[in-house]
Amino acid sequence: MLADRRAKIVATIGPSTNSKENLKKAIEAGMNVARLNFSHGKHEDHLQVIKYIREISRELKAPVTILQDLQGPKIRVGHFKNDKITLIEGSEIKISPKYEIGDENHIPSDFAELPQVCNKGTKILLDDGLLELNVLAVNGDEVIAKVIHGGILKNRKGMNLPGVTLPVDCLTDKDLIDLEFGLANKVDYVALSFVRYSSDIKKLKDIIKEKNPGTRVVAKIEMLEALENLEEIVDESDAVMVARGDLAVEVGQSQLPGFQKRIIRICNQKKKPVITATQMLDSMVENPRPTRAEITDVANAVIDGTDALMLSAESASGKYPFKCISTMHEIICEVERDKDLYYKFSIEDKFNEVAEAISASACLSAYKLDATAIVCLTSSGKTSTLISSFRPQCRIIAVTHIEETLNRLELVWGIQTFSIKPYRSTDEAMFQIEEILLKYKLVNVGDKVILTLGVPVLEQAKTNSMRVYTISGEVPKVSPENIPLRCRP
Ligand code: PGA
Ligand code: MN
Repeated sequence: MLADRRAKIVATIGPSTNSKENLKKAIEAGMNVARLNFSHGKHEDHLQVIKYIREISRELKAPVTILQDLQGPKIRVGHFKNDKITLIEGSEIKISPKYEIGDENHIPSDFAELPQVCNKGTKILLDDGLLELNVLAVNGDEVIAKVIHGGILKNRKGMNLPGVTLPVDCLTDKDLIDLEFGLANKVDYVALSFVRYSSDIKKLKDIIKEKNPGTRVVAKIEMLEALENLEEIVDESDAVMVARGDLAVEVGQSQLPGFQKRIIRICNQKKKPVITATQMLDSMVENPRPTRAEITDVANAVIDGTDALMLSAESASGKYPFKCISTMHEIICEVERDKDLYYKFSIEDKFNEVAEAISASACLSAYKLDATAIVCLTSSGKTSTLISSFRPQCRIIAVTHIEETLNRLELVWGIQTFSIKPYRSTDEAMFQIEEILLKYKLVNVGDKVILTLGVPVLEQAKTNSMRVYTISGEVPKVSPENIPLRCRP
């Protein structure tokens, strides 16, 4: 069943996946998180996708996290007379924000301060670093550069200035408008691009707190400054993305694998979910099978400890969007057979709060008693995320009646969620839980299950307790169409 996979799959939605029928296929193939990329698309199209996902998700009883990805201060070239130009190695070219339209010798840029931040020797990378320019001189508001690596440059391609401190705000005017839209439509997470300082995250959180406090924040790590301030940024964020596309261009490609591992390690230590993103199955944009290098990349990200793996163009505009999701699913499941991936805790661990002690104890008990599941009575989802960070090998089940929490937890490693009715006592909760676990064949009669909860239950106390149950009830009957998607055999 889909519920057996621990690492989660984030799929970017685009023309290949945005119809109702295709969104259903994506969820059925194993998509846990739908990423709406606000670098593209109109609000009305994103709104339609949000509505479809919520509808299908209820129908299939398969919670889905909706992740709004804000464009951030991405610098781009403008439009060209013939939609593209060819840059010839060794030739000179001018770049300026003042050009209305570009031609073979002039590249327009949407970054007004470009001439002010460039100096002789500044490196300018275009189209994800495929093309490279070197600044020779700045003349008024024109930048004169030499083409180091040439090729075709199309309209609106990205521009990176590695190592240059840009005088830009992390939240652009466009981002603020998009954010307003996202929060009004209750997205589960907002991802912020080109984060450099923890104050960037603080600013975003202040706006969220006012408009839809349930929404959480993902910091996209794709700038050198973000690596310098990594620990504070991770502390301030709810989740993190290793945004390898821009990161590789900003830091130099050979440094990428090391940084990926470091970012994941710090997120694991700080118990924050982390997504590994970009080009994981890139060749599948065109082909039905991945390369050996891609298979290994997906596997290695899981071994590194990532919570989720992301598809970009592969699912948004590629030829085989569902095949990409199922391919990722298969690779992850195979890697997760390795026992070394589990039970990441030690006697030296420091606990900042009671919930961490309970979570670690639950994992240790599950390991020692060979329990089949750790069940977490939760409202915000916090304890289940802590439990996940200790990477237990048994199932992690989070239960609550709060739909927002069910959806939001779909991003986190290993967590499966189920909706239960509000309860007045632990016994009342456990009665419902036992029925769910047996009915959907997540446990068998006689299995041990660990429960974490806050008592007194009626006072909605924070997690402070752990209990061990042995499943004893009758197995209830359930008709196949009532089984949640991810529990189907
Ligand atoms: P993007 O972010 O696709 O929005 O640029 C991911 C990345 O840079 O890898
Ligand atoms: Mn990026």
